[in-house]
Amino acid sequence: MQTSVYKGSIEKKFIKAIFFLISFVVVIGYILFASWYVSKQENDRIYLAKSITEVLSQDFVRLILLDDINTATDITTKLQALTKIQKVILYNQQRKKIFLYNAPTKVSKNKIFTTTTKMLYHGDSYGELYFELKVESFLDILKDDFIYLVLTLLLFLSISFLLVKYYAHRFTQPILYLVDFLEKVDLNGTIPQYQIKKQYDDEFGKLYEEINLLFAKLVDFLQQKKKAEEALAISTQYDPLTGLLNKNGFISALRDILKENDSHYNIMFYIKLTNLKSINHAYGYKYGDEVIKKFAQSLKENFNDSNLSARMGMGDFILYYQNKEHNKDIVLQKAQTIADALLGLLSKNFQIEETLVKTEAHIGIDISIGEKDPLKVLRHTNIALEIGRENHQQIVYFDKNNENNEKNILNVSEGLLIALQKDQLELFYQLQYDQDKNIIGAESLIRWNHPKFGLLSPYKFIPIAERTDLIVDIGDWVLDAACKQLKLWEDDEKTKEWVLAINVSAKQFNKDDFVQKVKNALTHYNVDYTKLKLELLETLFIKDQDGVAKKMRELKKLDIKLSLDDFGTGFSSLQYLKIFPLDQIKIDQSFIQNMFTNEKDIQIIKSIIYLGSLLNIDVIAEGVEEKEHYEKLKEIGCKYFQGYYFAKPKSISSLIQ
Ligand code: C2E
Ligand code: CA
Ligand code: CA
Repeated sequence: MQTSVYKGSIEKKFIKAIFFLISFVVVIGYILFASWYVSKQENDRIYLAKSITEVLSQDFVRLILLDDINTATDITTKLQALTKIQKVILYNQQRKKIFLYNAPTKVSKNKIFTTTTKMLYHGDSYGELYFELKVESFLDILKDDFIYLVLTLLLFLSISFLLVKYYAHRFTQPILYLVDFLEKVDLNGTIPQYQIKKQYDDEFGKLYEEINLLFAKLVDFLQQKKKAEEALAISTQYDPLTGLLNKNGFISALRDILKENDSHYNIMFYIKLTNLKSINHAYGYKYGDEVIKKFAQSLKENFNDSNLSARMGMGDFILYYQNKEHNKDIVLQKAQTIADALLGLLSKNFQIEETLVKTEAHIGIDISIGEKDPLKVLRHTNIALEIGRENHQQIVYFDKNNENNEKNILNVSEGLLIALQKDQLELFYQLQYDQDKNIIGAESLIRWNHPKFGLLSPYKFIPIAERTDLIVDIGDWVLDAACKQLKLWEDDEKTKEWVLAINVSAKQFNKDDFVQKVKNALTHYNVDYTKLKLELLETLFIKDQDGVAKKMRELKKLDIKLSLDDFGTGFSSLQYLKIFPLDQIKIDQSFIQNMFTNEKDIQIIKSIIYLGSLLNIDVIAEGVEEKEHYEKLKEIGCKYFQGYYFAKPKSISSLIQ
């Protein structure tokens, strides 16, 4: 579409205005002039009458005194020469008409001006003269002057038109030039340096200068914005630490590949460095990052024939191979060769500063054909990887059965929802003891009364519930059930001092309303706040340490007890004991069970007990199965115990028997 050139309307408006103004001024000017002229005529006529009286006074006196016919003729001749005179009558002192003059041509009455003069001669009065004099009306003047008026008007208009045209043009031309320039500005795509060139040595020149300056700034801004957008696009596609594709980048790149590929086998490797958290905690995050960088670098160097390589998160990496191969056996062979090479790479330690850092990894592999959905391929490798982790296998290939396993997980989640609604969950209680075998309280341990499979261990469903928010609903249920039970104990003389511990998962603890929920449950059943103990796991301390510590302080303020479960199995950083306000640490059962077979374990138990006494934190041993365990633990200073030796977890009905 062709756009017409913009011409503007200021010039036309200007011309119209000036035309109107000039016409108005000329017409009004003329009217004023004519009116002035009309009024001036009367004075002229009076003056004319007086002059005639004076000039012809001798003739008039002679006429009055002598009544001479020649004199009268003479006066008539003289008066005829004066065209403005219509009528003259001479009266003597006795008001007798002595002489009468009438002009040969008559004019209408409204064009007659009359005046009288005294007839004086040498100071003596002889009579009076009556004059009728011709005057011109406004219309007469207009009629006479019309042509001149029109010509004058035309002259003025032409001159002003030319002047206006010239000045308006000078005024609008720079504006139109600017408009034309601005119309051509295109700020999409590549942006050239826009500069308006015409030079004017006036306000327009200054305006152009400022516009050029503005454009320079704008172009600069747009270029920077573009760069930032490009950088952003890269950052949304690439992982800044390793330069590999990130999750978004990988999924969209894989989607493109899968679009075109149909009949070839593709291989995806999902590699997870499983001990990154331990590395971070043992050496600091800097080391963790270095390991990630070095590993990514080796992937790039050693597997540069892969079609895609990506970092999906923490220590999760992907290698993707697109094959030209239709034979699955050959592809399998290739996959195994690559997997072996990956294991070879992972078996080497990474040198970071002076330290040799050893990585542990699992690899999930999927070989797919004709698959279009990148997320599905990703899920397959993930399932394979998780199975590898559960079964301590470093390499696992995905197969359909794995997927069924995943479906089982789905069934469990659905089943749990029903369990919550249909009251299939139950709390078991495992009693806890002091050195003298007095009961101090209990830990609640959940069970699922499954309609088909009977009583299910939490190991069967809690890890699955923890993958979703179901764990929060379950946690709410446990909190409620525990408080209800605590109230019953409080009301019984024998059990009123018992403290009940509940297991709290990280997801549940991290919910904003967690503290409020605990408070609500305790107040709802009117339970003494000091009777509730929350068992937390170290995994809670990995993220948002400040937030977690703050929440723990809030709970402490309410006198709710906090215990650190499975102590010694995770990172067991001493730092945690300083940062987080704990009342208790639970030595993990693995140490207790190995205490007589592994000398190190007893040393660890001793140091935990010592640490507890130093920091004023209670220490409880869990998994105390044998009398010897109890006695040895007591000997080395352990004050609290939980385990099969004392009591197994029991339903409430069997507990009170
Ligand atoms: P946990 O908190 O470490 O609980 C202790 C586990 O060790 C319990 O297993 C208990 O039955 C078992 N146990 C106790 N004494 C002995 C012993 O002397 N020898 C041996 N071999 N085992 C002993 P359980 O009840 O199967 O619970 C397993 C895990 O499930 C718990 O480990 C806890 O992490 C989780 N869990 C249980 N109930 C809940 C709950 O209400 N909420 C959450 N989030 N997790 C729970
Ligand atoms: Ca526990
Ligand atoms: Ca435990």
